[in-house]
Amino acid sequence: MMKQYDYLIVGFGLAGMAMAAVLEKYGKTYRVIDNNPNLDTRVVGGMYNPIILKRFTPAWQADEMWRFSKGFYEDMEAKFQKQYLFPANIRRIIHNTEEQNNWVVASDKPVMSSYMNPKIMYDQVNGIKTPFGFGELHGVGRVAGEELLKDYKSYLIEKGLFTFSDFKYSLLEHHEYGVKYQDIKFNKIIFSEGSYVLYNPFFNEVEMKPAKGEMLVLKIPELTIDFTIKSGVFLVPLGDNLYITGATYNWEDITLSPTDEAQFEIEEKLKSFLSVPYEIVARKIGIRPTVKDRRPVIGIHPSYKNMALLNGLGTRGVIIAPYLAQTLYKHMTNAQKLPQEMDIQRFYTIN
Ligand SMILES: Cc1cc2nc3c(=O)[nH]c(=O)nc-3n(C[C@H](O)[C@H](O)[C@H](O)COP(=O)(O)OP(=O)(O)OC[C@H]3O[C@@H](n4cnc5c(N)ncnc54)[C@H](O)[C@@H]3O)c2cc1C
Repeated sequence: MMKQYDYLIVGFGLAGMAMAAVLEKYGKTYRVIDNNPNLDTRVVGGMYNPIILKRFTPAWQADEMWRFSKGFYEDMEAKFQKQYLFPANIRRIIHNTEEQNNWVVASDKPVMSSYMNPKIMYDQVNGIKTPFGFGELHGVGRVAGEELLKDYKSYLIEKGLFTFSDFKYSLLEHHEYGVKYQDIKFNKIIFSEGSYVLYNPFFNEVEMKPAKGEMLVLKIPELTIDFTIKSGVFLVPLGDNLYITGATYNWEDITLSPTDEAQFEIEEKLKSFLSVPYEIVARKIGIRPTVKDRRPVIGIHPSYKNMALLNGLGTRGVIIAPYLAQTLYKHMTNAQKLPQEMDIQRFYTIN
């Protein structure tokens, strides 16, 4: 008899993994297909920080989403008996007296007050130049996203639910009961291909504007800090004097090749505040699945009711993915209305 599952998930990044976990929570059967052989090279800078540190304003719905998503990562820690959440304060380098003032004013505002320490800190950190002090954020940190992806993938492989292959859109068959792909029946299919959704013929109305990003992994022997620094770039501690720094934004070149320009840009910004030697030990490159209007995009295909999209994680995938997966699942099962800003319908409705 032909095998049948409730769901097929196409693409196993943060979005696909969060979807798999949600389906499992609700006792649904599913399979995952993904074509990426090496999760190590996936860029998940991994930071969770609901605050925009350029302007000292809350990122869109990020605080609300993080309240939900944090619980998701805690559940993953319990599932795999491993730490994935690494809280680490962020110290934003203050560049002038105007910023000092803006920091203090912002720290009193709703949402901001739960993350910002209103006092400017003036303590000296060996290796870091900061004449106007630091503003400190708490309740922020890093998720070891690549580690979690690896563990979840191994778990799926062990259960025989993971296919390592390119999903071929032309081989998908639509039927009354749902879809058929390579002789397996599924009631529903969810696409979570990140920026590669550009090549998905079913969803080409969605206006994606992917942004390539590069980061450098550094060894800084004379720097031993357990908090993240933010100035023109982030400098995130990974332990053992290793740090990850970046990132760049490029909307023109969306190849996965490293560029000299990006390295130069990161190093220039880094040297503006780092005064000790460093060595580059690795480079990381990824493509952020950003939507033109900078909102996530989820929902059911307007014509194929068994087909859904989970995408648009943009720059804050760690915070958004679990919340979005849960929201999409509820929509697909209970026909709950989606918040308009993230609903795929916005690309199909003529205003
Ligand atoms: C430099 C950089 C730094 C970042 N830093 C942070 C950060 O600090 N914090 C944060 O929250 N976010 C950060 N992000 C953003 C975050 O990485 C993304 O939001 C997130 O990884 C997107 O996940 P995704 O699952 O949507 O897509 P992806 O991770 O791209 O996963 C999609 C998967 O689908 C597969 N796929 C696509 N098409 C097919 C197909 N036809 N068949 C089979 N498989 C397919 C792909 O190979 C891939 O494995 C950063 C991004 C970059 C580039």
